[in-house]
Amino acid sequence: MNHIGVHAAVWAGGWSDAERRHAIAESKAAGYDYIELMMFDPHAIDVSATRALLDAAGLGVTSSLGLRWDNDISSEDPAVVARGEALLGDVIATNAKLGSRYVVGVIYSALGKYNQPATPRGRANCVAALRRLARHAADDGITLGLEVVNRYETNLFNTAAQALEIVSEIGAPNVGVHLDTYHMNIEEDDFDEPVRICGDKLVYVHIGESHRGYLGSGNVDFATFFRVLNECNYHGPIAFESFSSAVVSPDISNTLGVWRNLWTDNRDLARHAKAFMDRLRTPSNGARVR
Ligand code: MN
Repeated sequence: MNHIGVHAAVWAGGWSDAERRHAIAESKAAGYDYIELMMFDPHAIDVSATRALLDAAGLGVTSSLGLRWDNDISSEDPAVVARGEALLGDVIATNAKLGSRYVVGVIYSALGKYNQPATPRGRANCVAALRRLARHAADDGITLGLEVVNRYETNLFNTAAQALEIVSEIGAPNVGVHLDTYHMNIEEDDFDEPVRICGDKLVYVHIGESHRGYLGSGNVDFATFFRVLNECNYHGPIAFESFSSAVVSPDISNTLGVWRNLWTDNRDLARHAKAFMDRLRTPSNGARVR
């Protein structure tokens, strides 16, 4: 059975003592198995306090992030690449200390709108850096998931098929594809084929609606997506991801264009999402998803 998680941005924009207490308690109370931290700055995470709260709640943890323009490992500038590789090394080390086994997201490129295509040299820098980081991560039992995001958030790849090419170039057993239904709705032809072509290279899943609000209120074909996950025997983690202007993260809200109020009651949102995903994860369940 998959572990079902919830993105920290559902609860809080940062990770202060009050924020982590709130986020961890609410995630547990809503029935989730783990919380996905936003780890743009691993040094901003109080590891021992976080781990103590997670352990007390019996909650697991993973982390996601996107790189920035000044630490983009797909840059042509070796100094910029080196900063990104160092950051990701610290992210991996922090995750190991937290007991996390997954570092996912846009860990291969800056998270944002590029004004030109990726270059062969930048791509080669990215592949080489991720190869080195994968060895480091493997020592800590950590899997790296390269999140397939839409054209406004990276220029390196935007579909599962493209992601599989770079995963193959990296050639490490602990590097795979991270699919997100919000991005799939923008870039893929359907919600079936991308899962099938990933096969056992699919290592992480984000469940987001087409506007990143309440599941079932937008355009994403969740019935097909979950059916194919079941058919492909996907056993990895699945995290609910949602953003609203009701919770503002200095790291991510502006980058992702979170301008609208999609919800105000995050407790209701998270419980609704958990029940929604639980219904669809049961293979024998019918197609009614709302
Ligand atoms: Mn995502």
